[in-house]
Amino acid sequence: MRRRRRRGPRSPALAREAKEAVEEARGRVAAAIGASPEEVFFTAGGTEADNWAIKGVAAANKKKGDHIITSSIEHHAVLHTCRALEKQGYRVTYLPVDEFGRVEPERVEEAITDRTIFVSVMAANNEIGTVQPVRAIAAIAHDHGVPFHTDAVQAIGAFPVDVNEIGADLLAISAHKFGGPKGAGALYVRRKTRIGTFMDGGAQERGRRGGTENVPGIVGLGKAIDLAVAGMARNAVRNAAMRDRLIRGLLETIPDTRLNGHPVERLPNNVNVAFRYVEGESILLMLDAHGIAASTGSACTSASLEPSHVLTACGLPPEHAHGSLRLTLGHRNTEEDVDYVLSVLPGVIKRLRAMSPLREGT
Ligand code: PLP
Repeated sequence: MRRRRRRGPRSPALAREAKEAVEEARGRVAAAIGASPEEVFFTAGGTEADNWAIKGVAAANKKKGDHIITSSIEHHAVLHTCRALEKQGYRVTYLPVDEFGRVEPERVEEAITDRTIFVSVMAANNEIGTVQPVRAIAAIAHDHGVPFHTDAVQAIGAFPVDVNEIGADLLAISAHKFGGPKGAGALYVRRKTRIGTFMDGGAQERGRRGGTENVPGIVGLGKAIDLAVAGMARNAVRNAAMRDRLIRGLLETIPDTRLNGHPVERLPNNVNVAFRYVEGESILLMLDAHGIAASTGSACTSASLEPSHVLTACGLPPEHAHGSLRLTLGHRNTEEDVDYVLSVLPGVIKRLRAMSPLREGT
């Protein structure tokens, strides 16, 4: 009997190539964040990485304590995970933020108790772009022997992220935020961090996250993080210049407008402004008719008509939060796009305000 050489789904050569490709991607992710490859675990995105970090550390430290500290402006991947743990008996402190959306590190110090097992504060906010003082927060957590997790989904590719410089014990990454495929992400876990297994199953990811690897997604993540880090300095300068011109132009030409988020400590690609007396959804529709894509509240939850939890945490009254608009700049945007938005948006707001019942008596 002649044996045919197979190159089908179970071909050893293909399996080896796939394994090598996954390990190459792991090396790329590790290099991008200053980690060792064995500290990087692939996941199905940022939400899974946050879930694993929080639930995994909580489960592994159950005997030590039951208290978790996070901020009130985290992405729902963190907030809803914490809420799920509350139902299991954990206690969670949701730290307040200042008017710019910053967590003051002293608040972490005040909130820590000898029952605290975990601090989680995002590196940068997805709605208002505010960058958090994560180094200072991590240092406080470590002074108390508490591990620190940061959701760096928005930070990777926007500014340098180094796990040792931050002092992160866990860090969540999502590929589609820096040009990679959707449904691929990673969790960085510092050596010796006590964390439970996320998915029981096969021996993949050294037995800590079972399930056949999403090889195309992982390879795409590795390539995208390489490109994002290589182009980061150039894109950040370019985007920040466009961001600042857009913000200045909107604040100068449209009355009763305020900037949401921090004026300086913010993501280079994030513009978020609140227009009084108008409703975000109407702005979106009119901008869409002009070919401008924007979002109100958080894009991830834009199906919801609740005012954004981030904006309300910054102290914006609901009616202002509803009139907020987020514009995200990408590498394909040009100065002409900024000019175009500045030529269209003032007229849109003027027209909507002329029709707005909110304006009466003002
Ligand atoms: N964390 C932040 C800050 C995000 O902006 C997002 C998505 O927008 C996530 C987590 C969730 O990541 P994923 O879409 O990969 O599940």
